[in-house]
Amino acid sequence: MVESRLLPPDGELAVWLEREGREMHELAERLYPIPRSITGEGVRETLGILRESVPLQVREVPSGTPVFDWTVPKEWNVREAWIRDPEGRTVVDFADHSLHLVGYSVPVHERLPLARLREHLHTLPDHPDLIPYRTSYYAETWGFCLPHRVLERLERDDRGGEYEVRIDATLEDGSLTYGELELPGETEREVLVSCHVCHPALANDNLSGIAVTLHLAKRLLAASREAPLRHGYRFLWLPGTIGAIAWLARNREAAARVAHGLVAANLGDPGPLYYKRSRRGDAEIDRAVEHLLRASGEPFEVEDFVPYGYDERQYGSPGFDLAVGSLTRTPWGRYPEYHTSADDLDFIRPENLAGSLAAYLRVMDLLESNRSYRNLHPYGEPQLGRRGLYPALGGGSTEEAPRRQLALLWVLNQSDGRHDLLAIAERSGLPFAAVREAAGALLAAGLLAESDEEAP
Ligand code: ZN
Repeated sequence: MVESRLLPPDGELAVWLEREGREMHELAERLYPIPRSITGEGVRETLGILRESVPLQVREVPSGTPVFDWTVPKEWNVREAWIRDPEGRTVVDFADHSLHLVGYSVPVHERLPLARLREHLHTLPDHPDLIPYRTSYYAETWGFCLPHRVLERLERDDRGGEYEVRIDATLEDGSLTYGELELPGETEREVLVSCHVCHPALANDNLSGIAVTLHLAKRLLAASREAPLRHGYRFLWLPGTIGAIAWLARNREAAARVAHGLVAANLGDPGPLYYKRSRRGDAEIDRAVEHLLRASGEPFEVEDFVPYGYDERQYGSPGFDLAVGSLTRTPWGRYPEYHTSADDLDFIRPENLAGSLAAYLRVMDLLESNRSYRNLHPYGEPQLGRRGLYPALGGGSTEEAPRRQLALLWVLNQSDGRHDLLAIAERSGLPFAAVREAAGALLAAGLLAESDEEAP
């Protein structure tokens, strides 16, 4: 394999990415108003929209199902939720913004003075114009989130009258819903791409991940229809924590086939790409992502695994210890818009989404073509000029030529079946694409054979 099967040729890449970026942003715009939580119709509606593009399976796990140490919760759906002031004016309305209601609020219809209502109101005094994002999945309560300025106005105007609170919601036996797309590959080894779908109107922390993973899936699906991919690919769009735990509990055999994986989130903000290593720390996915980030010439950050964050901590729980890292832009909690109404559609940009998609495609492209070879002429250097692989004239060549020659020599030298192309790229300091191209040329010239051994 000499060329990328997943990315368009260099000359077409910019135009392609511009279009992808625009489409991903349009998808985020469409998904933004849908109220999502860890269960309920919002997740189904979201998956239904993704299903217009890829043949994902919608899975339902009934409430009450034990999944390892957890139990699938009751399903939550909201019809309406609002607060009216003593004069009957609506002052907070879930219909205006899905962040206004604390996720998993129990149904309520009562009248109460502001002093008591206040216990159920959440604001951000330091960011008085923003609505915070709050949930209470496992403790039965209710609450509203609003800009601090609105609360200040209510307190200023308070004459001791009663507010009417209405949460017309159901919290009943139903199911937890997730989406799963399996693309078969030539081998049993699978790549897992996982993304949470449980956040309401939050663009970077959630919709960006959904958009990038959907477009990644579309591209892999199209490539796999042209010719089989080497790995199987499994995409999971599921509610955070409980969804990943439910999937793992129901899919222990599939989990054992996961050779590499990434958890996607926060992919539309202007920050540099950020990689959090898998629990193993030195898995092929860790090496692949770090190599590509380093070779990109763009700013990036890499950090070690910590058992916090998104679902990498479930995939990396010790009973599974899957090689799953997380590739994002600015990590959760490290941007001021995080988990507030400022994480909106203006905060994510088409060009950032497109750059993230390109990064994911480069990772998959590397994993697809990373393998070990054996040099068939390992005694002394084979004569490259005779095979048209070495320019006859020294000195007058283009700037590219020395690097190409160096790549040929590195691949020949390291191809003893024990070093994969990524290891050769790491050791030589050459970009993976240059090493892959050299291997392709040597293979065509009959100097290399594919090694039977799996990459170390
Ligand atoms: Zn979040």
